[in-house]
Amino acid sequence: MKVIRSSFIPVKGFTAINLFGIVFARRDCLPLTERILNHEAIHSRQINELLFVGFYTLYVLEWLVRLLYFRDSKKAYKAISFEKEAFENDSNTNYLNTRKQFAFLNYIK
Ligand SMILES: [Zn+2]
Repeated sequence: MKVIRSSFIPVKGFTAINLFGIVFARRDCLPLTERILNHEAIHSRQINELLFVGFYTLYVLEWLVRLLYFRDSKKAYKAISFEKEAFENDSNTNYLNTRKQFAFLNYIK
């Protein structure tokens, strides 16, 4: 997985963001932990399953729906199904070897 160090991407308060399979990490958050790298690898799998555009479209739409519900951007972010799958499994370094296709669907509630 390619990691690009950046001073501006992602915005402050976030450590890394996965854009089309390339991870951008804030310089002040380096080095990335194995857990964060695994988190981003889970996103890469989700991105590939939804052919890039589908992932980002659903990601933003789900965030907007959750934002309307929670009225809190951080809570909305944490409730996105893609993030819930990644956060719940990023400490399991074997997760991607056993993960079923479209597993993020199990996290939509
Ligand atoms: Zn994430």
